[in-house]
Amino acid sequence: MANRYMAFGYEIIDGAVCIVEKEAEVVRNIYLLYIQGLSLQNISDRLNLLPIAYSDDGRPWNKNIVKRILENPKYTGDKGYPPIISEENAKLARECKEKKQVQLDEDDKSRLDAYRTKIKCGICGGKMLRMHANSGKNRRMYWKCSNKECKSNRMNFSEKTLNVLLADFMNELADDLDVIDIKTEKDYEKSADVVRANNEIALSIENPCCEIENVIEKIMNLASVKFEQCKAGDNTAITQKIKESLAIYPKKVMADGKTIEKIVRKIKILPNKEICIELINGKEFERREREIG
Ligand SMILES: [Zn+2]
Repeated sequence: MANRYMAFGYEIIDGAVCIVEKEAEVVRNIYLLYIQGLSLQNISDRLNLLPIAYSDDGRPWNKNIVKRILENPKYTGDKGYPPIISEENAKLARECKEKKQVQLDEDDKSRLDAYRTKIKCGICGGKMLRMHANSGKNRRMYWKCSNKECKSNRMNFSEKTLNVLLADFMNELADDLDVIDIKTEKDYEKSADVVRANNEIALSIENPCCEIENVIEKIMNLASVKFEQCKAGDNTAITQKIKESLAIYPKKVMADGKTIEKIVRKIKILPNKEICIELINGKEFERREREIG
């Protein structure tokens, strides 16, 4: 980490000022979030969810630090610093008093490449193939399951529709990070090991020559099986990773491929223009094509 004699985002290597890319990305997102209307306080709260400290002494982010970053002319290339922020965004940030939504985009191809491999058939789980009906101007895209046994028909999902659905989904998640949490105790009561351990206890108790030590041993066994199950289901660390990826995610019109790549495990396409998005912590969300007009 750079020391804070230098502005956040920069370090000196062999006497030259260089960009620290990991920090520069944070600076860019601070500007974008601010332009989109988030308050200094809200931005600093989100920064504190990240594993990136502002300075070596580990002092937390606060709204004054955020404010200074937004006002620092070095980020647009002042005094020979390599620029991190465009003049345009710096100007927008200066003017920003009310909520504005900017159009942020990356090229379609990199976005599609990022999530194409994650798209699966919602019926059989098979790989989906991207097909074209007609050609030229009438070219229409649809998805087809690669599994010949699968009963699914063509699923009509244009790239645009899918992009908009995913973009809305990501914006909503970033707005409310708590929906990402998963209940770790969910299925352990039903697991085969727990059922077996439970049955053994029941059998010993029903047995007329049952010995209390024997029952106690089995109860202890059940407790340890449950404990193992709990540990296996504990994906707090993965959930935390998702939250870090979304903590300073600015709202976007089109979904961000790089972030999808990091936090989404599968995108299942279902009939009736529905998709089911599974995050890397196993949490699933359903989305339906937005009614337009
Ligand atoms: Zn299928």
